[in-house]
Amino acid sequence: MIKAKYFRQLKNDEVRCLLCPHYCLLKPGETGRCRARQNQQGILYSINYAKTVTISMDPMEKKPLYHYHPGEMILSIGSNSCNLSCDFCQNYTISQFDVPVKELNPEQLLELCDQNRINFVAFTYTEPITWFEYVLDAAKILQDNKIGTVMVTNGFINQEPLKELLPFINAMNIDLKSMDDDFYQRLCGARLQPVLDTIRYSSGKCCLEITNLLIPGENDSESQIQALVDFIQDVDDQLPLHFSKYYPQYKMTNQPTPDATLYEAKKIAEKKLKYVYLGNILTDNNTYCPKCKKLLISRENRIRNYLNENRCPDCNTIIPIEF
Ligand code: SF4
Repeated sequence: MIKAKYFRQLKNDEVRCLLCPHYCLLKPGETGRCRARQNQQGILYSINYAKTVTISMDPMEKKPLYHYHPGEMILSIGSNSCNLSCDFCQNYTISQFDVPVKELNPEQLLELCDQNRINFVAFTYTEPITWFEYVLDAAKILQDNKIGTVMVTNGFINQEPLKELLPFINAMNIDLKSMDDDFYQRLCGARLQPVLDTIRYSSGKCCLEITNLLIPGENDSESQIQALVDFIQDVDDQLPLHFSKYYPQYKMTNQPTPDATLYEAKKIAEKKLKYVYLGNILTDNNTYCPKCKKLLISRENRIRNYLNENRCPDCNTIIPIEF
């Protein structure tokens, strides 16, 4: 347990957490909505520092990150907390409920990487924002030791902490769940605008990709998909976008996303964005040159790279993929 970085002390030993746009107001003894921060005698503490709920090795593509070190394996760790409460959470057993945790402080994490020759670490599965102090300390140590850092996040964070953290994060996948604020309020207990602000601010400052889980009847209309594509195009049309297939999970019982919806979404997006991929279905997820359509990265069975450094070998277009 360590003192939280972003909070304000108020009268009667109350505190206001300033880490995310929920701005929880906590009386002594109370814990925030994320279950990760607690007011103890007028001081806000991060109570999940270094407490890890799960550790595993994943392919980079599983994050999903397709334009950051394709084909590499990445050590993936997560905490036992989240500041959203999505009805369709795919990891609800560890994000929404208390489960046993293991201590893994930043030095131990580095040692684990050294011993196993691990070059990349992802803060993922649950919400790394609610693990802020730990992610910041660990990311600094990892980067100092030339280990790439990745965050898979809902993007629901205030600008000041985001600005402090981002220089130590090499790549991020931000989940843009919908372009409808009502969707965020009704199904996630959050709001849309802070997520859009995070995407705008982070673009160009790290290797950024966006994921959108398409849920039938909730965010899969043509107008919703179009609005999402228009927003990303406005930020940067080279940002990779992943449409992901939804399966019923946690409190949501809607039918799984039909494959046809995913293909249609891809068709709409490809009119304005250069790199669009589909997740959770078996399909061609290769990277093609947006100009001449040459195959650049094949992801069938194993990763094959046909790029000439960072350029298309046929038409010489620069392709934003970090190796
Ligand atoms: S980080 Fe947690 S405690 Fe802080 S405002 Fe967000 S939900 Fe509340």
